[in-house]
Amino acid sequence: MGGLSMSFDNVLAHIDAEAIARDTLAFLRVRSETGAEGPGSAFLADLLRREGFDPVLDEVEPGRPNVYCRIPGAGGGPTLMFNGHTDTIPIGNSLPPGRDGDWIIGRGAEDMKGGLVAMVHAASALRKAGIALAGGLWLTGVIGHETPAGKKEGPRRLITRLRERDITADAIVIVEGPCALWTASLGSAIYRITISSPRGPIHTIKVPYEQNPASWLGRLLLEFEHLEREFASIPSHPLCGREQINVGMIEAGDYVNRLPTPIRVLGTWRWMPGKTQTRIRDTLASLCARLAEQSGLSFDFSLEATREPFETPASHPIIQAFSTAGERLTGHAPRQIGMALVGDANLFANEAGVPTLYYGPAHETAHSDHERVSLERLAHCAGMYALAAIGFCGVATDQASPAGSAAPS
Ligand SMILES: [Zn+2]
Repeated sequence: MGGLSMSFDNVLAHIDAEAIARDTLAFLRVRSETGAEGPGSAFLADLLRREGFDPVLDEVEPGRPNVYCRIPGAGGGPTLMFNGHTDTIPIGNSLPPGRDGDWIIGRGAEDMKGGLVAMVHAASALRKAGIALAGGLWLTGVIGHETPAGKKEGPRRLITRLRERDITADAIVIVEGPCALWTASLGSAIYRITISSPRGPIHTIKVPYEQNPASWLGRLLLEFEHLEREFASIPSHPLCGREQINVGMIEAGDYVNRLPTPIRVLGTWRWMPGKTQTRIRDTLASLCARLAEQSGLSFDFSLEATREPFETPASHPIIQAFSTAGERLTGHAPRQIGMALVGDANLFANEAGVPTLYYGPAHETAHSDHERVSLERLAHCAGMYALAAIGFCGVATDQASPAGSAAPS
């Protein structure tokens, strides 16, 4: 272990916070809003080239490439992928790019150009320290992340590459989010339920209230309340909380004495790891069938934007690697957390089958007009990424000791 600890010291000595600040600020000055993020991908590719790496561009749509950069290992170790998105939400009224002491300010600072720069500096520090990892690294940036303008085109293209094994990875670390190991998220889907009367929008004088879709909307909402009570009575997931159903939109009626038909109810259903969307579909199907039979109305439903939950177990080597890195850097292993929020990890873990987690500088100002990121946190992340890469990928055996000989300069 002496060799590993020397490698750690050696690589940390090559992380330059001021250089991270300069690169992050330069990245923020490049406009790369979702849909027109080509310049952001180009910046990332240029930064990788400047650091001596060899990125390739994968044109997902004209002018909108993903960036993939393989850093081969010496052999005999697992492969780690770092990933982030090169698009930002619209700049809008965001503070212009700038620096104030420890803070780098501007759209994309926290979400997530800072993380991408930290990722590149981590790989660069490994190279400058002369550390040959046993397993390989992939540094990747994707387009089209931020919805609704983005349709996940970039993440989906990367998933295709992983499924076709053009790219292989044993774990993925997404370089954004809170400064903690985010290892689980609920699944989620938008549901849409349509209640309609076979009689159409006629005068309410002809239809008793108990046949009015509005009265059955009340019944439906009551059923949701029962479901919510049931969910609350089941033990919550220790990291990402309990199953939940909620309503966001109700569209009903257009005139005071016309039958309101159809009525549409839209909302979000979130469920815990261990359950799949099939169960949600089955529950909605039987609920709609029962209400249709009782009411004589039709109850139709659909699910959109479904994401299965993800959970990377605490025993996974990538979590072990981050724990060791955290102990070395801060004296303790990072906190393990979960979120109700869904993100690209839900896609990578379920659709590409690669265990995924997030570790980022912060999740505090993303999408606000005062977006900013702490430089100290970015440097911390760069250190964590480099040390976790050493722990996960391993160091080539002819280098393991004495580590001091690895320094080239
Ligand atoms: Zn983001």
